[in-house]
Amino acid sequence: MPFTAEHDALRETIRDFVAKELRPHAEEWEAAEWFPDSVFRRMGELGLLGLRYPEKYGGQGGDYFSALVLAEEMARCGSGGVGMAISVQSEMATPPILKFGTEEQKQKYLVPAIKGEKIASLGITEPDAGSDVANIRTRAERVDGHWRINGSKLYITNGVRCDFILLVCRTGKPEDGAHGITLFLVDKNLPGFEVSRKLKKLGMYSSDTAELSFNNVEVGDDAVLGEIGQGFYNLMWELQGERLIGAAGSIAGAEVAFEETLKWCKEREAFGRPIGKFQVNRHKLADLYTEITVAKNFVYSVAEKWNRQEYPVAEISMTKLVVGRVTSLVADTCLQLYGGMGYMAETGISRYFRDSRLIRIGAGTDEVMKEIIAKTALGL
Ligand SMILES: Cc1cc2nc3c(=O)[nH]c(=O)nc-3n(C[C@H](O)[C@H](O)[C@H](O)COP(=O)(O)OP(=O)(O)OC[C@H]3O[C@@H](n4cnc5c(N)ncnc54)[C@H](O)[C@@H]3O)c2cc1C
Repeated sequence: MPFTAEHDALRETIRDFVAKELRPHAEEWEAAEWFPDSVFRRMGELGLLGLRYPEKYGGQGGDYFSALVLAEEMARCGSGGVGMAISVQSEMATPPILKFGTEEQKQKYLVPAIKGEKIASLGITEPDAGSDVANIRTRAERVDGHWRINGSKLYITNGVRCDFILLVCRTGKPEDGAHGITLFLVDKNLPGFEVSRKLKKLGMYSSDTAELSFNNVEVGDDAVLGEIGQGFYNLMWELQGERLIGAAGSIAGAEVAFEETLKWCKEREAFGRPIGKFQVNRHKLADLYTEITVAKNFVYSVAEKWNRQEYPVAEISMTKLVVGRVTSLVADTCLQLYGGMGYMAETGISRYFRDSRLIRIGAGTDEVMKEIIAKTALGL
């Protein structure tokens, strides 16, 4: 196991926080399709938004496994959208600021994000470009010593509530493809930056997902994150961390669903015995337990490489692919084992069934993962 006594203590603290301060509100937040911004501030106060960030920026100075513990424990909060929003804050939109940002950018965005005082989002996907990131159209043009941004972004988590966005823009010509892309840090309160709509979703109800538009939004050179023209490559680095933490949180979610279903199978009776005692169901549960254990250990082994600053692109894609498969199997099998109760909105399992489907789409689809594995590991 990659976890130390310190990680175990951290896990206990987070589990307690989740059980006392998040889980009791899950139903209310799901119904509202929103959870309060104060959750970010509270988690900031507890140091949970900067677990693996340096102390000089207000972080806890921990390793990657501290962040992984948080992702795993957030899977117990009863509402997938809360964990996802927090992951976007700490593991998706802000790691590039630490890695590529100037000291000024770190002070302006990273420090308040770690405190939970500023909420972050990440804008890659557009109405006409999702998997094909190199083909994005949102443009930042150099005009009178400024950058003028025009375009739109779709499906942006935290997009409604964010204070700033890490925005992926085209700064070169369309034919420059991946070489013509630059990252920007853009404040939400700038003129021309609008939330076009809050989107209704299949699951992850409590997280806000937005379509955003940018009409002549003006920013200075200080908004450029990293080098001009290097945005695509810097974003590919970000996506490795995003996929890995997504896989870790998802397999933890599968484990929670499995634990609840196992309990149900021991209690629910049919034909005079607990349904878990029928061999067909017992074998299903044994299969799920095996699949979850294997996938989880694979995630840990890849996370160890990431923690050592290695760059295991194919393996990270494999973790997301395999976790997606296991998650779908767990969600479908567990719902079936709940029978009619599994189909009811009031049960955690139906919510899990809806929420868990996202892992096979967000941060790169299954098909994109296979393309990456084929190219990087198989030379195809
Ligand atoms: C709830 C939610 C939250 C999200 N949050 C964010 C966010 O915060 N920030 C952000 O930028 N994005 C976010 N996304 C967007 C997400 O990353 C994209 O939806 C995803 O990358 C797929 O892009 P797309 O939807 O444009 O699908 P498309 O790229 O249009 O793909 C459609 C289908 O075609 C397949 N396909 C595409 N190319 C190939 C190929 N070469 N070979 C085989 N099949 C292919 C895909 O696998 C998919 O099945 C979010 C999405 C959702 C649903």
